[in-house]
Amino acid sequence: MSIQPPPTGAIREQFARFVVPNYGRFPVELVRGEGSHVWDSSGRRYLDLFPGWGCNLLGHCPPPVVAAVKSQVDALIHVPNTWYTAVQGRWAEMLSERSFGGQAFFCNSGTEANEAAIKLVRLHTPRERFKIVTFTGGFHGRTLGATAATAQVKYHEGLGPLMAGFRYAPFGDLEAVRKLVDDETCAILIEPVQGEGGVQLPPEGFLGGLREICDEHQLLLVFDEVQTGCGRTGEWFAYQHFGVVPDVITLAKSLCGGIAGGALLTTPEIAPSLRPGMHAATFGGNPIAAAAGIATLEMIEAEGLLERARVLSDYFCSRFESLRDSCSLIREVRILGLMIGLEVEADGSAIVQRCLEEGLLVNCTQERVIRLLPAMTLDDSEAEEGCHILERILKDLS
Ligand SMILES: *Cc1c(COP(=O)(O)O)cnc(C)c1O
Repeated sequence: MSIQPPPTGAIREQFARFVVPNYGRFPVELVRGEGSHVWDSSGRRYLDLFPGWGCNLLGHCPPPVVAAVKSQVDALIHVPNTWYTAVQGRWAEMLSERSFGGQAFFCNSGTEANEAAIKLVRLHTPRERFKIVTFTGGFHGRTLGATAATAQVKYHEGLGPLMAGFRYAPFGDLEAVRKLVDDETCAILIEPVQGEGGVQLPPEGFLGGLREICDEHQLLLVFDEVQTGCGRTGEWFAYQHFGVVPDVITLAKSLCGGIAGGALLTTPEIAPSLRPGMHAATFGGNPIAAAAGIATLEMIEAEGLLERARVLSDYFCSRFESLRDSCSLIREVRILGLMIGLEVEADGSAIVQRCLEEGLLVNCTQERVIRLLPAMTLDDSEAEEGCHILERILKDLS
């Protein structure tokens, strides 16, 4: 039986009464999605250049993922990690082949993957080493370990005391990192491209410099690729752009084509430090997530979507660079693959609101960065339409 959607006003009242108000929500009820479009309960269609907050890298309801989930649901929905399943093994193998040949720990979200990484780096290094260097403007998730790793005070307010052991360096500052590292440091944790921090690209040589510091002091290098991973940047993983191989990567968001799933990948030498009894996730690597994860990787390959992401990236790049030259509102354009940030001299949330009114979904982060995380399956006319609407609004406001 399907539940008739009540009008948006009634839903808002229901949320006000029964849902914890920890999110800001647009006054729109979404009912359906397909590719880069979503529809609301009044039948209005929106072009979505921020599908699923970065989780829907293949667009809404990608058919191969839908098919894989439907068939898995009929066979086996959930069994605990005390058993083997073929889908989890195959998924781990596929991730290993596309990264640095390591092993996977599966969980359900980005913050969980980072919690696993925090435990792993402490367990793998000598007892007296517990400090982890992270970076200002970074974002690693909302559980308390990941919150402590997130060097943005606005996310810490009222939560203390936070987990001890994190040391914050400015993003891009190798000298600061060197000064923070001491005999108690065990790891460096960084997003190779900061997402929530405003699509910040690492300065030339910065990630390589971190690798050198880690090698010199026997630290582990952890890349949080929750947002950058699984093809988002036009490579399977962002580290592959920079010629720097981390010891651990954490993944979630687009990992399972929109189904919830997370993972940590590490080398076979380091992996056994997460020994039996030290860590677990009840739903981690469950058959539905695994089937969706496999279908996601297969679809990206079968449809040449890494290449497509690079083509789309070049298109957005040339459109927004020429816009920058003609629109005084734009301070900087920062793009790697399909991570796109436009830093504007204006209230970003007003721009997001204007876009919504015109049927275009985008995001604003750090108050002044318009962020797009479009799907790799976006077609040429959708890309053109999205750029056109955004350009018109930005020119209007400048
Ligand atoms: C979104 C994000 C997280 C948190 O992921 P959740 O699935 O919301 O826990 C962690 N790190 C980065 C880089 C992210 O973008």
